[in-house]
This record gives sequence, structure tokens and C-alpha cells, in this order.
Amino acid sequence: MSISAFAAFDSVKPLGPLSIRRREPGSRDVSIEILYCGVCHSDIHMARNEWGGTVYPIVPGHEIVGKVTFAGSEAGDFKVGDLVGVGCLVNSCRTCEPCRHHLEQYCEGRAVMTYNGYEADGSGPTYGGYSAAVVVDKDFVLKVPGSLDPAASAPLLCAGITTYSPLKKWNAGPGKKVAVVGLGGLGHMAVKIARAMGAEVYVISTSSSKAADAAGLGASGFVLSTDAVQMKNFRSAFDLIINTVSAPHDINALLNLLRTDGTMVMLGVPPEQLSLAPFSLISKRRSLAGSLIGGIQETQEMLDFCGVHGITADVEIIRMDQINEAYERMIKGEVKYRFVIDNQTLK
Ligand code: NAP
Ligand code: ZN
Ligand code: ZN
Repeated sequence: MSISAFAAFDSVKPLGPLSIRRREPGSRDVSIEILYCGVCHSDIHMARNEWGGTVYPIVPGHEIVGKVTFAGSEAGDFKVGDLVGVGCLVNSCRTCEPCRHHLEQYCEGRAVMTYNGYEADGSGPTYGGYSAAVVVDKDFVLKVPGSLDPAASAPLLCAGITTYSPLKKWNAGPGKKVAVVGLGGLGHMAVKIARAMGAEVYVISTSSSKAADAAGLGASGFVLSTDAVQMKNFRSAFDLIINTVSAPHDINALLNLLRTDGTMVMLGVPPEQLSLAPFSLISKRRSLAGSLIGGIQETQEMLDFCGVHGITADVEIIRMDQINEAYERMIKGEVKYRFVIDNQTLK
């Protein structure tokens, strides 16, 4: 079937309309009419080929919420009308060790990303959520709690799971002091989720204008990273730092804010390499780690957790044709705190 989408055609031109084909759904497939799609900074990195490897045209979007329009005979308990989500992954090998441990994002076979990947059946490139509909294997379709607003839930499918997974793995909870670096899409979700897990949360930001928002999101304190005195006051203060910064920055200054045995987890992917001064680790047996989204089972767990705690993203809903302006505003840090496309505006 042929459907409407929005694509980047090269690394510099604005995104524009494109007609794409979706495969005919098979017995394990779920067809989804996309209602909303969040705009992740990874969409910008990929559309502009900032990480290399982008294949054009690219249809970004991996924070998808929609309604089931068809469920194959072997598509489990999905049924027409269900509110569902699709995140960054639409398939994986299922047999390698990470897949067997529900860590499909680290698949050693062939994980299929929602966009800029290749369909598992070899039928062609995968196209993401800046489109009217998608067909996905049932194992990679999530159930969105009915208690949550569908538009504001879309960012949970990437920003939500990407922050939930490391917060859980590194035991954010009561008695733990967690700092979130960068108050953007991922950052604001990290604050909400870490608070709901019971941790004491601080925001480390380059934007003094975000201090009041940080408090509103549940943070106990705000550190302006450009102010040397404030940074000094928080030396060795944190058990865990969640770093969501999308651009080059000084990681040593941040590592120095960890207490003995503390860990900084890199989530942001600046296009350039960052430089590490080994002493910032050695002096307090600190760790520097990274984390990629989360597995499918954990994504469902995160959605259910958000359902119980009433957590969604703070969103600004846009029309599809406002995407280029949205990218520019995100790069300037002018979004509070996630753009979400109303996919009905593609029609
Ligand atoms: P975003 O909404 O644009 O937020 C990024 C934040 O980083 C900004 O709001 C800003 O916060 C801070 N920042 C930007 N430029 C900076 C600079 N030069 N120095 C210091 N801070 C700066 O982006 P996002 O969607 O949250 O994504 C963040 C990063 O995570 C991107 O690189 C994205 O590709 C990556 N990502 C990774 C995963 C994963 O699985 N690991 C998943 C999704 C996204 P302040 O104004 O508060 O300083
Ligand atoms: Zn993302
Ligand atoms: Zn695998």
C-alpha cells in the first residue's frame, strides 16, 4: 500500500513530502494508523547524516503512537482499535545472546531499526513515523496504557525508555542522588522517571532559563554548568549522572561531580569525539558507561510504570509541515520539552 510520509532527501535541504510503500501485513503483523510521532534529536542527527551512514530518502520518527487497523491471525492479542506504540526497533534476530536476554537493542545478529534500517524480509528500507501508517511484527509492538494521553505518550517510546533503562540498571531510587545533564526531550523524561523511582534529582543545564521548569518537573536543585562556582559546589555530590547532551561538551567537568564509585551514563551522541582525562575517573574509582534505548520487554515495563505513575512528556504538538522549523528550535534548545507531530496533518 502507498501512503503519505515526510522525508529528508539529502543532508542539507528541508524535509518534504514523499509517497512510500508499506508491505502487505502478514499473519504476525500489526498494521497501525499513526496518530502521533515524537521528534527525537536522533532524527536530526540522522536526517543530516551527522553520524554517517544515512541512506536517502530517509523518513525519520521512532516515537510512534497509533491505532491498530489490522492484526494478523498470529498477532497475539492485538486487535483492531487498540492504542499501541512502536519505538526504535522493529525486528531483531531473536536467537543471539542479547536477544535471548530481552536486550534486542544490542542484537548481534540483525536488529532492524525503525528507520534507516532494512526490513527483515529483504523488501527494502525501513521508514519511520513521519508517515500515515506502519506495518510491524507483533513482537515489536507495545501496548500504550489507556490512562495516558496518546500524544504525550509518544515520546515514551524513545525518550522514556532510553532514560528508564539506565536509571533502573544503575539503581536510581530512595537514598540516591541523580543528576540529569541537558534538559531536553530525554532530560525532562529522566527527571520525571527518576523522581517516580524515589531518587533525589538535580538538573545540570547550560540554560539558566530552565531552572524554574526543572523544579516544576520534580528536581530538588539546578546547576548552571557554565558557572564555575556552582559546579565546584557540587563536586563529588552524585551517585549517578545521566548525560543527555547532543553536542560536544566537557565530560571531565561532569565526571568530577560524581562521588566515589559513581557512574556517568552517556545517552547523548554528539557527532564529534569527546576527550577523557583519565584522572577524572581514577581519582574516585568512577565509571563512565553508555546505554542504548531498552529492550522490548523493558519498554512495556516502562510504559506500564508510566501508566501507574501518570507520567507522560511535556509536549508541543506540531503539524507535519512545521518539522523543519521544529528542528531549528530543538537545536537552539527552544522546545519545552518534546515536539510531537499530529500525523493527521499528513493527509
Ligand atoms: P534535545 O531535546 O535537543 O535535548 C538536548 C539537550 O542537550 C538540550 O536541551 C540542552 O539542554 C543540551 N545541550 C545542547 N547543546 C549543548 C551543548 N553544546 N552543551 C551542553 N549542553 C547542550 O535532544 P534529545 O532528543 O533529548 O536527545 C539528546 C541526545 O540523546 C541526542 O544526541 C540523541 O541522538 C541522543 N539519543 C540517544 C539515545 C540512546 O539510546 N542512547 C536515544 C535517544 C536519543 P540544556 O539547555 O539544559 O543545556
Ligand atoms: Zn530517539
Ligand atoms: Zn539478536
